[in-house]
Amino acid sequence: MIRSLSSANYACCDQTTPYTPLNFPELAGAIAHINEEHYDELLGFLTAFTSLSSDDMDKANVQLVAIYAEAIALRIQLTGIKKTSTQTSDQTFFIPFTAPIIQFSDLNTQYILLKQKADKKLGKKTIKLTSQTFVVQDSYKVSQNMLRLELTGLTANTSHKNAIPADEAGYAYLFDLAHNTTTAQRIDDTAPPARAHCYYTLRKAWQTSDGVRAWVDVFLHGDTPGGNWASALQTGDTVMSKREFPEKTAHLQDGQALLIADETSMPTVARLLELWENPVPPLVLCVTQDADDQAYFDEVKTSTNHNFMVLPLVTGKVHSGKELAVLIDHTLADYLSIQPLKVEKVWGALEAGTAKALRGLIQQRLGLERSDSVIKVYWRQD
Ligand SMILES: Cc1cc2nc3c(=O)[nH]c(=O)nc-3n(C[C@H](O)[C@H](O)[C@H](O)COP(=O)(O)OP(=O)(O)OC[C@H]3O[C@@H](n4cnc5c(N)ncnc54)[C@H](O)[C@@H]3O)c2cc1C
Repeated sequence: MIRSLSSANYACCDQTTPYTPLNFPELAGAIAHINEEHYDELLGFLTAFTSLSSDDMDKANVQLVAIYAEAIALRIQLTGIKKTSTQTSDQTFFIPFTAPIIQFSDLNTQYILLKQKADKKLGKKTIKLTSQTFVVQDSYKVSQNMLRLELTGLTANTSHKNAIPADEAGYAYLFDLAHNTTTAQRIDDTAPPARAHCYYTLRKAWQTSDGVRAWVDVFLHGDTPGGNWASALQTGDTVMSKREFPEKTAHLQDGQALLIADETSMPTVARLLELWENPVPPLVLCVTQDADDQAYFDEVKTSTNHNFMVLPLVTGKVHSGKELAVLIDHTLADYLSIQPLKVEKVWGALEAGTAKALRGLIQQRLGLERSDSVIKVYWRQD
């Protein structure tokens, strides 16, 4: 759908801008990160706030070129302009923030507000900056290194702004780890600085007679803030989330899909499998460091009727970076040489370096449209 410009602020094509340059040292890194990891959101901003259509964007290169105090600047190079289009081949659009950026930390909030506004215009689910409290009912291991937290929350009343979604795969909560830090830990200044928050996925939620039950599965990998937080939780403790974030999986509704999970994204893939409505069963490539964590999908295999195939990849010490991406690509190539599937859709979430390298390798191997392949970053190797 073509949207016309609603404000002169949204479009500008020359280099003289009325906007205030920012000089934060972190800015260049933030711009690079947004271009790499949030490309689809940039397309969303252009679709929501300019006259460009998503068809225009399919054949274009979009880049965040600057962040000013009052706006972001997006440059679009249109490569395959349709006859009806009036766009020239290279334009810069300025998308204004709700309020100007004064300190670097404002950027996060302003970016989220922009995303919320764009998603609302496009009728898409969006990130929420709401707090939610859960009560711990139980915790137990579901595979060698995966700890399940069983929580209760508010009712799944869909009209409630804090409803816990029972039918969404990959819905993630940003948990406030500091909420469960004791006063003694806080005043002990010899302790290493604890990480303040961590994203974990809603593995599953369902309504019971006394409210909503929810599972959150936490991968334990040594002495880390997230793992220590989850392991220390006791029945009756409250946990708090500060943000909620829907996952991008709508493209998986049809066609042959490939799902790539490591331990951190197994909960998302397990829920995707439980909610699978695509008539073609997906191929699941399951990457774990420890062979015993492959058992994580056993429960899903018995609880669903879909005939999906799990292709295991046990990596031992290789769990990140380009090396893992190459291993995943080779595993996939070997499988496709004996089982010639035509993979049409991809969803995966992995370590940052792996995700970056794998996007290129998957593109080369499967030749998919950008919108048919989503490979997310769920964690970062130090
Ligand atoms: C949207 C989203 C949903 C997520 N859902 C889940 C989920 O359901 N379950 C889950 O377990 N995780 C999930 N994650 C990932 C989780 O948020 C990160 O792995 C987080 O960094 C873990 O924090 P930590 O304190 O354990 O380790 P960190 O503080 O991130 O790191 C501590 C050390 O451990 C290393 N490290 C971090 N993660 C791993 C890893 N996976 N394997 C090996 N080494 C590692 C780091 O390099 C560092 O050296 C999700 C992330 C996102 C963005």
